[in-house]
Amino acid sequence: MKVNAQVFIIIITLCILSSGCEAKREHLIQGRTMGTTYHIKVVTGHFQSIAGLKEKIEKRLDEINQSMSTYIKTSEISRFNDLRQVGVKFKISDDFFQVMSVAQEIYQLSDGAWDGTVNPLVDLWGFGRGGRRQDIPPKNQIAALMPAVGFHHIDVIAPGYLIKKLETVTLDLSSIAKGYGVDQVAGVIRKEGFQNYLVEIGGEIFASGVREDGQQWRVGINRPRKDASVNDVYKVVRLQNKAFATSGDYRNFFEVDGIRYSHVIDPKTGYPVSSGVVSVSIIAGSCTFADGLSTAIMVMGLDKGIALVNRLGNVECLIVIEKQDGSLVDHYSAGFQTAVSGGKVQY
Ligand code: ADP
Ligand code: MG
Repeated sequence: MKVNAQVFIIIITLCILSSGCEAKREHLIQGRTMGTTYHIKVVTGHFQSIAGLKEKIEKRLDEINQSMSTYIKTSEISRFNDLRQVGVKFKISDDFFQVMSVAQEIYQLSDGAWDGTVNPLVDLWGFGRGGRRQDIPPKNQIAALMPAVGFHHIDVIAPGYLIKKLETVTLDLSSIAKGYGVDQVAGVIRKEGFQNYLVEIGGEIFASGVREDGQQWRVGINRPRKDASVNDVYKVVRLQNKAFATSGDYRNFFEVDGIRYSHVIDPKTGYPVSSGVVSVSIIAGSCTFADGLSTAIMVMGLDKGIALVNRLGNVECLIVIEKQDGSLVDHYSAGFQTAVSGGKVQY
């Protein structure tokens, strides 16, 4: 009897020490940032607190916005865009430098399909500031903007400088900065001692550890249809310690004569992409990289996109094509099925 009691006490102690028997709780933190919403789930032990965590997360997001939001006139990126000097070193923060380094990598990997200087065209096509349009801009207006487009017109210099090589070149990092926000928020949560959490900003995700029930995090991909509701789930993937980002042409577009013109622009033609790719989802170690690459592959198209992903280590993709008859066809990179760590993509 005495021995059993001792064993019981030892088990209880081990459970408390390892938190193994402690009930888990899932906390939701949500808000708005970067012109969209964010949702964060953090799993804690029953007696652990997340007090102050939201403030720390929002402070970090605010720092990133002050650096890279083109909607803030005094942000670093706005000041860089206003700069009218060529060949002068423009000092930037570590945040800006980190994003520009990944941006340059994606620009090179995608052979210029991803290009952070494409924004004058985005504006002309009515997807930026300056209001919407429902028609195709005149050819001469597109041609007039092309010379200012080209990421090679900017030098990125360690440990933190940019140099304009062309006066009119400007930057828009909206297709990669959300991913960076996700990575940085994940870093804040990790630093606070949590291992199990899910961070989502505007559909870009990082999943760390597991849910409160010990199962892997599950994330949904929207059905890539213009009439699909935001809750219409096309695929569910399981993720553990991985980033996940999706780019699509089915939300932000207009149509002329049955042809869809979307917010992703081919920097080489000046026109919205028309590769038949309606959705690209990327799994990678970093959400910055996943976010940028998903936009890049929208432009590159199916064959080049899959070939690139299969060449890269630890990066996988799902590319959805819409055929002429309107049907959707899925294409997976070689390791996608094993990367979604449950082993299977669920339908
Ligand atoms: P969202 O921001 O809607 O989630 P993406 O991450 O795919 O979607 O980014 C699309 C945005 O990227 C566009 O609204 C535009 O500002 C910018 N963009 C468009 N074409 C390109 C391109 N070829 N390279 C880099 N950025 C682009
Ligand atoms: Mg993107």
